[in-house]
Amino acid sequence: MQFVPALLPSLIQAIDQVIETNAEEVTALDQAIGDGDHVTNLQRGIKALVAQSDELAQLDWAAAWQKIGMTLMTAVGGASGSLYGTLFVAMSKAARDRPLDLPAFAEIFSSGVEAVKLRGKADAGEKTMLDVLIPVAASLRQGAADGAALADVLDNVTRTAITGMESTRDMLATKGRASFLEERSRGHIDAGAKTSQLMIGALVGVLAEHLTAPA
Ligand code: ADP
Ligand code: MG
Repeated sequence: MQFVPALLPSLIQAIDQVIETNAEEVTALDQAIGDGDHVTNLQRGIKALVAQSDELAQLDWAAAWQKIGMTLMTAVGGASGSLYGTLFVAMSKAARDRPLDLPAFAEIFSSGVEAVKLRGKADAGEKTMLDVLIPVAASLRQGAADGAALADVLDNVTRTAITGMESTRDMLATKGRASFLEERSRGHIDAGAKTSQLMIGALVGVLAEHLTAPA
């Protein structure tokens, strides 16, 4: 079983769809404790990726992640644009000249998440997308260390992302616009944590389907 960049058009399409389907709900979250533009920001980036899909599918992973990162940085805007952009550019740097198996991907994704932490000067527990990304990276590394079956790792990733997203509800925001609200930021899920969870769920859905599809 191989995961190749030829899968990128279906992965991007799945992300486009899941953000579209949940646009209203996520916008309401960002309106509650942010400025309400998170979905529009993200959709600008996703539409740019949809337009580049066929081109991306021809690249190797390192080149594809680099291009995705640059596109997100320029097209998304807002705090999330530079953060999601940083994630992919850092993944590209970590990816060079390595075959993409689970241990390699776990390490590459973890490098991406570390770069997001540095870029946003943030860590787990601050009510951001990192409350999804950090535990998901840890669950990938755990799955790789255990030599777990890919299907089980994907299941775990899905569950971990949901738990992480839900954990932001009761957190106090200490980074980003939501932090201006101080105690009033509690009681709402973070919009960036929600979109991270939705996108990870959509990606896992495509990969799991690919895994079980007849060769
Ligand atoms: P903006 O806040 O500039 O309007 P968006 O609405 O697109 O940008 O994105 C907001 C999301 O970005 C938040 O919900 C949060 O998940 C994430 N975020 C904001 N600041 C940081 C940070 N310093 N580190 C990590 N994530 C952050
Ligand atoms: Mg916003």
